Amino acid sequence: MTSVPGPTTIDCDIHPSVPGVKTLLPYMEEFWQESFVARGIDGLDLQSYPPGAPITARADWRPEKGKAGTSLSAMRSQALDPFDIGLAICNTLYGGQIAVSETMGAAICSAVNDWIAEHWLDKEPRLRASIVVPAQAPLLAAEEIERKAIDKRFVQVLMPVACEMMLGRSYYWPIYEAAARHDLPIGLHAGSMYRYAPTSTGWPSHFLHDYVAHQQTFEDQLLSLVTNGIFLKFPTLRVVLIESGVTWLPGFLWRAIKTWRGVRAEAPWVKESPAETIRRHVRLTAQPIDAPPDPKSLDRVINQIGSDEMLLFATDYPHWQFDGDAVLPPGLNPSLIRKMRHDNPLATYPRLKEVIPVSKATIPPVKETIQ
Ligand code: ZN
Repeated sequence: MTSVPGPTTIDCDIHPSVPGVKTLLPYMEEFWQESFVARGIDGLDLQSYPPGAPITARADWRPEKGKAGTSLSAMRSQALDPFDIGLAICNTLYGGQIAVSETMGAAICSAVNDWIAEHWLDKEPRLRASIVVPAQAPLLAAEEIERKAIDKRFVQVLMPVACEMMLGRSYYWPIYEAAARHDLPIGLHAGSMYRYAPTSTGWPSHFLHDYVAHQQTFEDQLLSLVTNGIFLKFPTLRVVLIESGVTWLPGFLWRAIKTWRGVRAEAPWVKESPAETIRRHVRLTAQPIDAPPDPKSLDRVINQIGSDEMLLFATDYPHWQFDGDAVLPPGLNPSLIRKMRHDNPLATYPRLKEVIPVSKATIPPVKETIQ
């Protein structure tokens, strides 16, 4: 990793893994405990990362047995310590949003949130987490936000980028309203509820295509949020695109600006350039960083984006996005590195500035890590 002395590094995308449904049963009502066991439902990891796919876990981070990301001690020794991470946001990817049943989806998401609090946040003061919500049931999602927002260690609301419809639709507004009320950004992670093919021309044949195709979904959802006036309706709301890649943004902004100028009459409430709205409200995690190896090319991309406040440092551990300690691309401007790893995350996630009260005797205060 490029070493730059300075304040705490904040990892905005790290992935603990749920070992399996059995792990979640203690956090479910009796009805759901019986349902999952009697119906033999398990293996809900397919939201975006099949457990055996090479990019799901870097080879040197993959355990001999079991799934990568299930061990806190491995996370400490493989990511938190070597990358000198002071705070990390856990984005748990499990099948809560895949369930077609709204109430089953809500039961999985609630169990994931309670499990992550007890088994990860209570045990490691450097960790924070996203509230996983059932996007297939926005009212239940809003209830889950209300239930967990009281715990200040939850700093974001997490959904897959590919949901059941465009995210600007009013169907989703209860989620945004609840998130905005608690000053929680909406995190859209690469992943799908798999109601529709990830391309507009059908299902791809391989996971390779599925993962690459997410870029267009990010573009579509972003423009849906802007043109449906979400950031006018919820002016304090921020959206974080997680694992979207970065270099598509300048070309996308150019097309959005040019077309908005020509046909803005159909959406008169969009009074400013989409680029201005996006620069103010939208952030992107910088892993994978899909830039050419030449540092000058990346510099050019950052200049074309027109803001050094949009990129957030992330390892995406244990997913295989880089080798060795190359979590940041070479040649980045030191001031941009500082912004990515500290200033921008703090501005995006206000709750990271809070000193968390010690509710459990095992949790030391973390004030020194967030100054
Ligand atoms: Zn990720």
